[in-house]
Amino acid sequence: MSTPKLYKTEAIVLKGSDLGEADRLLTLITPRLGKLKAVARGARKPKSKLGGHVETLTHSLMMVAEGHTLDVVSQSQTLHSFIGLRQDLEQLSLGLYAADLVNCFTEEHQENQAIFHLLVETLDWLSDVAGEKAWPAGETVLRHFELHLLEHLGYQPQLHQCIHCQQELAPVVNFFSPSAGGTVCPHCREQAAWVKPVSVNALKCLRLFQSDSRQACCRVKVGPELSLELKNHLQGYLRYLLEKDIKSATWLDRLQHSEYPLLSTR
Ligand SMILES: [Zn+2]
Repeated sequence: MSTPKLYKTEAIVLKGSDLGEADRLLTLITPRLGKLKAVARGARKPKSKLGGHVETLTHSLMMVAEGHTLDVVSQSQTLHSFIGLRQDLEQLSLGLYAADLVNCFTEEHQENQAIFHLLVETLDWLSDVAGEKAWPAGETVLRHFELHLLEHLGYQPQLHQCIHCQQELAPVVNFFSPSAGGTVCPHCREQAAWVKPVSVNALKCLRLFQSDSRQACCRVKVGPELSLELKNHLQGYLRYLLEKDIKSATWLDRLQHSEYPLLSTR
């Protein structure tokens, strides 16, 4: 099937970098065309019509022309700017982390509509919870995102039965094994490499985030300790799958544990 010379697509800008004197090189995720790279010519010029519509983490409707080496964005209209994300650095970093995971786990030109829509939903949700004073609701959003991203990639972790003996897991401390792709019961612990204990509450939360809607997840109050345990399990699994560190996750850690007031919202 031949691709049209000029095509219209929704896209989220996963990242952008300066190119030449006034252009931006964009990495986009689209519903039908998967991930792709395109140039926004002149986007850095002050009077550019594209400028505000091709910023990182913007969901836009674009007209794109096929190029010899790179496609070129000819028009772009913002559908969602996720304004809440842009109110402070921490919130923005949560959104950038989600976009970075999508970038790391997807290949160019491979359609995955579910991942596109998951990212739109996640950025929208992060934008909504911006500024909430309870234990960062953004962390819950990210865990929900990670679990659903894993599902859409075909790496959904097994959280109900022991991955070795297939027995239903008892409500006791079990073990999470990234290499086995899920949870292992205490009896099978020795058979799995690199396991970490998973508490009863952490397993309940992981199952809830994996199966339930945004509304159900919002009702759960996750304290700092449990939040850290959930993050360690999921990011350990993601790291195992990627076989490398997720750069933006390390950055997020540094930002959140910084002694310096980097997170000023002024
Ligand atoms: Zn077992």
